[in-house]
Amino acid sequence: MTAFSPSGLRDWCEALGQPTFVGSSGRVFPTAMKASPLLRTWMAGLTARGVRFRFHQTWTGWDHDGRLTFEGAGGACEAISAAAVVLALGGASWPRLGSDGRWSQIFTANGLAVTPLLPANVGFDVAWSPVFKSRFAGQPLKAVTLCFGETSVPGEILIAHTGIQGGGVYALSRNLRESLMAGRPTVLMLDLRPGLKTREIQDRLDRTRPGDSLANRLRKALRFGPLEIALLREAFGPTLQASPKPLADAIKAVPIRLSGVQSLERAISTAGGVPFDALTSDFMLKARPGTFLAGEMLDWEAPTGGYLLQACFATGKRAGEAALRHIRRGQGRGHDPDIP
Ligand SMILES: Cc1cc2nc3c(=O)[nH]c(=O)nc-3n(C[C@H](O)[C@H](O)[C@H](O)COP(=O)(O)OP(=O)(O)OC[C@H]3O[C@@H](n4cnc5c(N)ncnc54)[C@H](O)[C@@H]3O)c2cc1C
Repeated sequence: MTAFSPSGLRDWCEALGQPTFVGSSGRVFPTAMKASPLLRTWMAGLTARGVRFRFHQTWTGWDHDGRLTFEGAGGACEAISAAAVVLALGGASWPRLGSDGRWSQIFTANGLAVTPLLPANVGFDVAWSPVFKSRFAGQPLKAVTLCFGETSVPGEILIAHTGIQGGGVYALSRNLRESLMAGRPTVLMLDLRPGLKTREIQDRLDRTRPGDSLANRLRKALRFGPLEIALLREAFGPTLQASPKPLADAIKAVPIRLSGVQSLERAISTAGGVPFDALTSDFMLKARPGTFLAGEMLDWEAPTGGYLLQACFATGKRAGEAALRHIRRGQGRGHDPDIP
């Protein structure tokens, strides 16, 4: 990240006339609340400096002479030789937005290492009962703590027809994915009242009227909503006990049994990619000097919250500067003081 720090990225946006601000979550947003003005200004500046853009060209690999091959929208093919190349072809999540990960097959066919592409920041399947999912799919469960193994994160969950999604789930998605892929039973635990100790929950429940229904006691003592009440019943079934101590224990540890990882097509990002040991420290392919890589093609994963874009910008800057140095060296021009 030292190649392009978070504050460096914000300064760059500002210099392009698109200031940013830090939201209450600590995340950075463009003041315009959309990325398109930044992209437009950036592209206009690049065009003014002589950059030529060619759209609707699919990179299909290398020909026998090492030239890059492209297929245009009409099927026309073209081969181009380049002194240096930066590939930033993305991962394979949300392929309808363009990044379909087909480059990984091209790499493998050319003997280049690729760690299998897997879903990251992804939802998980849960076999909800028909009643539960018909009533609560689409509803968020806010301000809970999610625990898996030694790791616990505060966050939010979105109940989906097929399972669970949302920021809290994504934060644990690597550990959960690895557990499921290893074939282990994988149970996510939820603390529905992380701000209260078990004893405090028990005391509040103790003060409710014993004649009240369980739902009313939870509503009055702990401000539970219909989703939280139904989730307790869904998770514990007939074993859910109404007396304060076991009920408080249940509220602090609701088990959600996961049955599968949702597909890469619906993941926010991609794990896997080109491993770092196949690259120089400047992200150049050791096996193909002059070819640099950046962004999600590389084998890293990060949580949501801006870390993904930050890493893509930082690796892009480093790869781009290294590509320029590579060209200058090829032209026998040695070190250029303008390129770090
Ligand atoms: C719904 C969603 C929300 C997200 N929200 C956030 C967020 O809030 N914060 C955050 O940090 N990250 C977020 N991300 C992740 C972030 O968008 C990605 O990590 C980042 O865009 C990856 O950048 P990249 O340059 O590596 O690849 P991409 O942005 O995927 O760009 C790759 C480009 O290469 C093109 N391409 C692929 N193959 C070929 C080929 N063979 N020939 C020609 N072109 C090709 C693709 O069409 C695409 O234009 C989100 C992702 C999704 C899907």
